[in-house]
Amino acid sequence: MKFHNPQADVFVPDDAEPDAALARTTHICVAAHQDDIEIMAYHGIAECFGRADRWFTGVVVTNGAGSPRSGIYGQYTDEEMQKVRLREQRKAAYVGEYACQIQLGYSSSAVKDAHNAGVCADLTAIFRAAKPQVVYLHNFADKHDTHVGVALRAIQALRGLRDEFRPEKVYGCEVWRDLDWLPDDKKVALPVSARSNIAMSLVGLFDSQVAGGKRYDLATEGRRLAHATYYASHATDTETALNYAMDLTPLIDDPSIAVAGYTLGFIDQLRKDVEQRIAKLA
Ligand SMILES: [Zn+2]
Repeated sequence: MKFHNPQADVFVPDDAEPDAALARTTHICVAAHQDDIEIMAYHGIAECFGRADRWFTGVVVTNGAGSPRSGIYGQYTDEEMQKVRLREQRKAAYVGEYACQIQLGYSSSAVKDAHNAGVCADLTAIFRAAKPQVVYLHNFADKHDTHVGVALRAIQALRGLRDEFRPEKVYGCEVWRDLDWLPDDKKVALPVSARSNIAMSLVGLFDSQVAGGKRYDLATEGRRLAHATYYASHATDTETALNYAMDLTPLIDDPSIAVAGYTLGFIDQLRKDVEQRIAKLA
């Protein structure tokens, strides 16, 4: 498969031929940065881990050039840092037994440019080759511009697919903003209790990110535990870890639905919930 950037990287942990590796995909995550996949889409990784009938593919759209650096990475140039991050993402694909790991190598500014057609074209080619059943994207209430930019290009690509290539489910997942504020009946609660050892290693191996003092490994585990505990006040926890997602499937089933209006609809429901409870009890 040919991608827009010559430096785009395709890694297949079990050495299968790349086209075949991609074709076996059932679950796919399209994320902005190296380590986002492991934070937001562990549900898909765990669903596929060690299975012969399900395969997880990760797609990272940016090149990691602007990432923060300190300690042993402090003096690294942007170019050296990109290599570190590319290698860390490959390590995660190996540990998580991914079908395939693709790193498209775009700059953040290219991703945020709605007129740059390259990202959408690359994602379209990947979706057509992988024909995934489940797609994990950033959610549209995330506070990181690059995350929202990537999610917009991905939705655009999914909307352009013919019916037979469209996934059954598209989830908007948590990184730079939790989704615990979604009304309970709108939350997609993704169970992520399985193999907490693998879950921990997957985020922890991004040493260049954790080394700066940002304990994404602990924070990601903590978020999942908090969600499982605070999900329902009266029920006993059946899961020890949950991630929340926003259901984005309606956006591809009906391309006339505006992304902004759809997202703001959830916020309106939160507003109504707060308003009604106070009115009832005041
Ligand atoms: Zn990110």
